[in-house]
Amino acid sequence: MADDCVFCKIIDGKLPCYKIYEDDNMLAFLDIAPVHKGHCLIIPRQHRVDFPDLPDDLMGHFFTTTKRIAEAVKAAVNADAYNIGMNVGKEAGQIVMHAHLHVIPRYKGDGLKPWGKSKYPEGEEKKVQEKILQKLEL
Ligand code: AMP
Ligand code: ZN
Repeated sequence: MADDCVFCKIIDGKLPCYKIYEDDNMLAFLDIAPVHKGHCLIIPRQHRVDFPDLPDDLMGHFFTTTKRIAEAVKAAVNADAYNIGMNVGKEAGQIVMHAHLHVIPRYKGDGLKPWGKSKYPEGEEKKVQEKILQKLEL
């Protein structure tokens, strides 16, 4: 529990939410400012700041829970598809510093474009691949 965390306050019952799922480790509720109706957030009950702060032994349950919720949301709002996403760090758009996965219902022709695309300059892919492999110590 972090005193200044809006999601911890929701977990603690100090702030209201439209809860859609809970168990001993997880809570899911409707996003207050949805991209589309049914947009929801899945969070660990423990205060964890971001993705790398999540304990490995929670990951399986986190994603299994998200899969179940995402399919239920999709069916409930008659979505064609959905995005699952996590903003990690403020430069990536993270505003609430309590790790959360978004489930965002999507519709054919809804025009949402999460991110743009570019091209690697000649030879750059290999360099980037090598740097990542080094960090992974493979
Ligand atoms: P992010 O930008 O990934 O940190 O997303 C934070 C999300 O939390 C945003 O989509 C907000 O609309 C949502 N949010 C913030 N406060 C609340 C709240 N009290 N209840 C439900 N959702 C919230
Ligand atoms: Zn928190």
